[in-house]
Amino acid sequence: MSSLGSSLGNLRDLYQQVILERYKKPRHRGKTDPVDRQQRGHNPSCGDTIELTVQLNEAGDRIKDVKFEGEGCAIAMASADLMAEAMRDRTLEEALQMVQRFQAMMQGKDEFPSELRKLNVMQGVSQFPVRIKCATLTWHTLKAALEASSERVPEGFVSNEDVA
Ligand code: ZN
Repeated sequence: MSSLGSSLGNLRDLYQQVILERYKKPRHRGKTDPVDRQQRGHNPSCGDTIELTVQLNEAGDRIKDVKFEGEGCAIAMASADLMAEAMRDRTLEEALQMVQRFQAMMQGKDEFPSELRKLNVMQGVSQFPVRIKCATLTWHTLKAALEASSERVPEGFVSNEDVA
């Protein structure tokens, strides 16, 4: 918590305001019921950890709900909360396309259309390369969750770091 101010000090006011609001009052924290997919993710460069749970429709091809638990910096937690909101009612294919688009946005190459413009608030982070992994952790973790089989692997986790 003590480094929160300095880590966000360079972000522009709007970004900072939305990120801090989501960090302090997340709307999608918790676990889905039932849990159809779950995946833990870890960003060693900052220490962020996240555990996503996903509820699918009966056919298993559309997301009904995403929730997250975990601990980390404001950027990681805010990104998770915004992502969870944006994923409701998306097909798995749409969800994976959104993951790609978010990653491209972090490289300054893309942004979301107006109906998803809330996600564009994370664009501010792309100006700070050391924070990008904080923002992408939850997206990276969701991708792993959706691509995994339906068998749960609660002890496994994905890492943002390249294999050492
Ligand atoms: Zn972080």
